[in-house]
Amino acid sequence: MRKPFVAGNWKMNTDSYASVELAERIASGSVETAGQSVTVAVCPPFVYLQAVARALSASSIAVGAQDIYFEPKGAFTGEISASMLKDIGCVYCLCGHSERRHVIGETDELINKKVAAAISGGLLPILCVGELLAEREASQTNQVVTRQVKKGLADLSAEKLSAVTIAYEPVWAIGTGLTATPQQAQEAHDFIRKLLGQMYGGQLAEEIRILYGGSVKPDNAADLMSQQDVDGLLVGGASLKADDFLAIIQAAV
Ligand code: PEP
Repeated sequence: MRKPFVAGNWKMNTDSYASVELAERIASGSVETAGQSVTVAVCPPFVYLQAVARALSASSIAVGAQDIYFEPKGAFTGEISASMLKDIGCVYCLCGHSERRHVIGETDELINKKVAAAISGGLLPILCVGELLAEREASQTNQVVTRQVKKGLADLSAEKLSAVTIAYEPVWAIGTGLTATPQQAQEAHDFIRKLLGQMYGGQLAEEIRILYGGSVKPDNAADLMSQQDVDGLLVGGASLKADDFLAIIQAAV
């Protein structure tokens, strides 16, 4: 049985006051579900991580970073390592979010180093994969996702795979209001699980959580979660509204 997992990606939003207030509202509204029947995490901007981690310390809601750098320390101006994030209470970190792939220009090779560094530094990476609209229209979804999963997890042992969560986020659905239908999400998740099965064996593939992301809202969360291979949701815009995020957590129970 895979425990449902709902993560909120706050992207480059909130401020020092709003981040703590949002965290507190989510914590007080999800006392009965978070940590028991659903894993819940929020990923604030780097500068608010510590304050949010403190605000959530008495709750079972985990904190995640939106990115990391792969080197452990040294002359890498502006970068943040896994061990620094762990030090301030981070549990998860996104790797290869579509905005980092397509806006910042991260490659599969760089993302692979980040996944490996996250695990070595004691974090649980959430590897984000997903196709562009043009790739879907050209029937290349499976090909793109195969490349991103295989390269993103390159050289990762089966033992380390259990630290990983995969997030399938079709790029055309992120922040656009367009959502994959539950069937489209299920097809992609089933494909990814079978791919993981080929890479690591069926038993391990059955244990890995695969989240869906892309314009998840309170009114579509339950339908997406009803799919057999949709184990959770990575939520962007709707995670900035406490009531919406809480409703999405409820839909995952
Ligand atoms: C995301 O940031 O990963 C995301 C899925 O955003 P949104 O829910 O706003 O589409």
